[in-house]
Amino acid sequence: MDSGALKDTSAGALRAADAGRTVRLAGWVARRRDHGGVVFLDLRDAGGIVQVVVNPEDRPELEDVVHGLRLEYCIAVAGVVRLRPDGTVNPDLPTGEVEVAVERLDVLSPSEPLPFQLDDRVDVDEVKRLQYRYLDLRRPRMAENLRARSRAVRAMRDVMEEQGFLEVETPTLIASTPEGARDMLVPSRLRPGHFYALPQSPQLFKQLLMIGGVERYYQVARCYRDEDLRADRQLEFTQLDFEGSFWGQQDVLDTLEEIAARVTVALRGAEPARPFPRLTWHEAMERYGTDKPDIRFGMQIVDLSPVFSTTGFRAFSAVLDGGGSVRGINAGPLGLARSGLDGLVSRAQELGAKGLVWMVVEDDGSLRSPIAKFLTDEERHGVATALDASAGDTLLIAGDDTPVVLEVLGRLRLDVGRPEGHDELAYLFVVDFPVFERNEDGDLVPLHHPFTAPRDVTEMRERPDEAISKAYDLVLNGSELGSGSVRIHDPAVQSEVFEILGISTEEAERRFGWFLEALRYGTPPHAGFAIGVDRMIAILRDQPNIREVIPFPKTQTGADPLTGSPGRVEEAQLAELGICLRPEVLAAWAEEEPDEGV
Ligand code: ASP
Repeated sequence: MDSGALKDTSAGALRAADAGRTVRLAGWVARRRDHGGVVFLDLRDAGGIVQVVVNPEDRPELEDVVHGLRLEYCIAVAGVVRLRPDGTVNPDLPTGEVEVAVERLDVLSPSEPLPFQLDDRVDVDEVKRLQYRYLDLRRPRMAENLRARSRAVRAMRDVMEEQGFLEVETPTLIASTPEGARDMLVPSRLRPGHFYALPQSPQLFKQLLMIGGVERYYQVARCYRDEDLRADRQLEFTQLDFEGSFWGQQDVLDTLEEIAARVTVALRGAEPARPFPRLTWHEAMERYGTDKPDIRFGMQIVDLSPVFSTTGFRAFSAVLDGGGSVRGINAGPLGLARSGLDGLVSRAQELGAKGLVWMVVEDDGSLRSPIAKFLTDEERHGVATALDASAGDTLLIAGDDTPVVLEVLGRLRLDVGRPEGHDELAYLFVVDFPVFERNEDGDLVPLHHPFTAPRDVTEMRERPDEAISKAYDLVLNGSELGSGSVRIHDPAVQSEVFEILGISTEEAERRFGWFLEALRYGTPPHAGFAIGVDRMIAILRDQPNIREVIPFPKTQTGADPLTGSPGRVEEAQLAELGICLRPEVLAAWAEEEPDEGV
């Protein structure tokens, strides 16, 4: 059979106006109902679902084939579109007013019994879904996720192309660059003992493109970071990466806002509110305890230290004397019983606080709290005023080192306040990030990456802990969608940043000499950004994790249950690469099940 002739219409396209048309359809048997001789099939293809009806009384030659059909058989039918009889219209289906009376039916390909039901309402173990991803992708929700992803990326490309950006590919076998995560390494056969790194992002290549005179670059780029996997993290992920020369922060944010708006329209059908609000990093931390605030609700953190400046309540006075702070949130009318309130105290302790004070505002305006008796009238009144409290509200107060207080209240705020089940979108720019932070060992590390320009070089040199950078983030509903910055274009400043980071001149020269040299050839001022494509689509599609919008993702342990990666390789392959496995790896292998495929 000539397969080009199998299909002239998409199953999802048929409407009442098509009644009377003869059509050819091809797809999969999504449902099958036998109604005493007449067989009803839901025929599903990439465009949707339509009901097809086979009546063996009219078509005796189809009797055997139609009774032999099973779920997910791939079939082709030809027939006439007709209106469904009264009372059988399905308003939930776009094609629900019609059905196709089958005149001819061919099985193109039978299917084994399915490992799980391809029904969005059935919960299937994720490893199983990934093992049979090709079946999972037939489920309507997954099929729609793929289509949404394609629409989103197209909307991104549209903005980039309209604004004159040039799409340029950059290599994936590169030298290691310092972007904060662990590199994925690829051994070189041609130079045994040497390794490529897979790019954590195209950062240095896009900067080289600016030096190369491209002026406006973009790429839908695959990035690799060898980090522990989480709901919103995979070993490989996709960024919309872009960079512009003679650009500053405002240019980037304007473009970003346009991209975000267009992607939102593509996936949600509605424009988000513009302009996106903007907070400095400092404001975000002070008000929300995080650099990625969910601003769909208020419940801001308020500094209550002034209220308690002369307090006799020991726990708070000790904190204030020690340079910490006392802060609180008005969690609104939570209506929690004592056990619920105690639960919040335990949660705060889990999050690292020494304790948490709760207060419930009674109808007469008084405060019910385990510590109420230790407070003066003035303090009780001060708290209620500062937190704008009304009857029924629950107030949560923590006193500790300020970073701990902010972190704990920020997390509790999300626990008690996060709006569920509605589709409001709150985009936000966070700007003026610090240049550096301290890692666990107390060393300075870049908060963004070491190619980010400081606001003021002298400030960075003299007070690195406080220095502000020209880095900015885009946040949506409490998730970071991406980051960017104005870059350093002066090689002397770039060397200075390496020096502050404790990278010696020799090491900087050895690792990044090629880049420092490039900066010396008339580098234009430039700035850019990268959007996490998977994350953005997952949020806009209301998906619980990014794996739902990645066609072939890895499990939380970095494995692909479908193809069996990562897998062992033949000894001979390792030998070619000059690689010998360490004895402890070989010992661990001996304990494991034999690896399939080798
Ligand atoms: N390369 C950066 C990242 O992946 C983004 C940027 O600064 O443009 O986070």
